[in-house]
This record gives sequence, structure tokens and C-alpha cells, in this order.
Amino acid sequence: MTAKLIKGTEIREEILEEIAAEVKEIKEKKGVVPGLVTILVGANPASISYVTLKIKTADRLGFKEIQDDQPEDISEADLLAIIDKYNKDDSIHGILVQLPLPKHIDDKKILNAIDPDKDVDGFHPVNVGRLMIGGAEVKFAPCTPAGIQEMIVRAGVETSGAEVVVVGRSNIVGKPIANMMVQKGPGANSTVTIVHTRTQDLAAHCKRADILIVAAGVPGLVKPEWIKPGACVIDVGVNRVGEKVSEKTGKKIAILRGDVDFDAAKEIAGSITPVPGGVGPMTITMLMKNTLNSMKYKLGMM
Ligand code: NAD
Repeated sequence: MTAKLIKGTEIREEILEEIAAEVKEIKEKKGVVPGLVTILVGANPASISYVTLKIKTADRLGFKEIQDDQPEDISEADLLAIIDKYNKDDSIHGILVQLPLPKHIDDKKILNAIDPDKDVDGFHPVNVGRLMIGGAEVKFAPCTPAGIQEMIVRAGVETSGAEVVVVGRSNIVGKPIANMMVQKGPGANSTVTIVHTRTQDLAAHCKRADILIVAAGVPGLVKPEWIKPGACVIDVGVNRVGEKVSEKTGKKIAILRGDVDFDAAKEIAGSITPVPGGVGPMTITMLMKNTLNSMKYKLGMM
């Protein structure tokens, strides 16, 4: 059996087209566009490339985009003042502080200073609490888990009553996606198990999963014999396992591998996400959706 590929690159395009159409319509009717500010401190090359991609995507969708780059040695107080300025700016609906921050800045303090109603990353404790309560309380689900749920739904996989096993208990992927899948509502209603480094018999839990979500950061952790035939496998892992020369650009690029032994797993699973090109492209997409939703909340449209 060869699994159906759940392609994040294709689902991203579908969602971005939907967002762009909505932005255009709201702009015509109400004269407002979503406003996103990206705050980048210092010059970490990975952070620069993430922020650049976010800015490009926001521009493509017709958002107002402010790129607020700050020097590595900015003080915590000055950074807090910048956040305060954007908290008060009515044209800004989403504030994104690119992590990691330099060591002299307390990242928790910075993230907690963002107005929860502009916290489009969904990391503020208020939004974590709202996610836990579920239903109409939820404003912003964190972007990677939101992308995972969207992929499962758009792939037509039944979640109601499904056994979902989540490998990993991080605050940015494992815990929030487990919490989202257990809620009462569409795209959820699942029976959820979280497994982690202290779990006994990881294989036995994974084998029960109708939907297996793996976010461990361990290349090839999940073996094909751990997969229930026909299961939906979502591989969140992005692991750099080496380098190669790009055929397109001639430059050195990372060789990426997921947490699942993809080649063998695709012969057993019913559907599976590839790495790269699976969950990865969904994160920025859902950031854009959260920013659009933030504006819609403000306009009373949600
Ligand atoms: P993390 O290191 O914060 O958490 C990993 C979790 O996996 C931990 O809770 C740990 O208990 C569990 N784990 C680790 N090794 C295990 C093992 N051998 N057996 C069982 N459990 C184990 O990582 P994270 O931030 O959640 O990210 C996980 C992976 O997902 C990474 O590869 C990361 O790069 C990737 N990721 C991708 C995206 C994206 O594609 N957009 C976003 C976030 C994270």
C-alpha cells in the first residue's frame, strides 16, 4: 500500500488564496487591512530567513507589514517600550517577536508584554488558557498545531472518535495539538494520548493510533512497524542530518529528515506528510490566518 501524501505546500496555497480573497473583500468594504509587525533583534541568520519569509507572505496577501529590526544590544526596557507602542497602535493586529532573543533579555517577559489580543503566535499564557477552555474562548491557536489540525481536516481524515497519539510534550507543538484534538468540536473530538521520553513502550502506544502526530526532534524515531495500517501520520520533525549542494542554486543546503522513517512508513500508512514540504509550510500560513482573524475580531466580524 502506498499512502496518500498530505502536501503542506499545496494546502498552504489553498489557504493563502482564501486569505488573500478575504483581505481584498474586507479592504473594499471597510477600508482596513490586517497589520502585522515583525520584531527581529540582532542578526541570527536563521531568524533573518524566517522573518523574511513572514514579511514576503504578508506582502503577497496585501497586509500592512512593518519590519522593526533592532540591534543585538537593545535593552529589555527599550524592547518593552517598542511592544507597548504596537500594543497601542490600532493599525497593528499582530505582533511577532522572532525568537530566540539575546541572552540579556528575558523572552518570557517580552512575550507576556504583548497584548493577548495581538498575540498571533498564540504563546501568551492568556491564549494558552483560552485554548485549554476551547470552543468560542479560543482566539489564536499556536501556528504549528493549528497547521497540523488544518492538514488533517483538509486531507479528509475522520477525527471524531479517532485514537490520536502525540509523540512529544513541548509547549509549542505536543501539548497544544493534544489539547486541540481532544476538544469538543469539528476537526477534534478525538481520544488523545501524549507520549514522551519517560513513556514505557512507545511502540505499543503508536500502534494504536488512527492519527499519529510526531514532534520529538529525533530523526527516524518512529519505525514502520509502529504504524497501524491505514493510519494518518503527521511528521512534525525537522532534523538537519547533513548538507548537499542545491541543483537550483549551486549553494550548500541542509538535508532534512523527519521523525518518521518515511520511505518505509508510506507503505503502511493511509496518509502521511513528507519532510520537507509537509507541516513546515503550514506554520507561517496559520500566522497569516491568525493575523486576519485578529483584525476580524476587532471589526466584530468573528
Ligand atoms: P522539543 O525538543 O521542545 O520537544 C520534543 C518532545 O519530544 C519532548 O517533549 C520530548 O519528551 C519528546 N521526545 C524526544 N525524544 C523522544 C523519544 N526518544 N521518545 C519519546 N519522546 C521523545 O521540540 P519541539 O519544539 O516540539 O519540536 C519537535 C520537532 O518538530 C523538531 O524537530 C522541530 O524542529 C520540529 N518543529 C517543526 C515545526 C514546523 O515544521 N513548522 C515547528 C516546530 C517544531
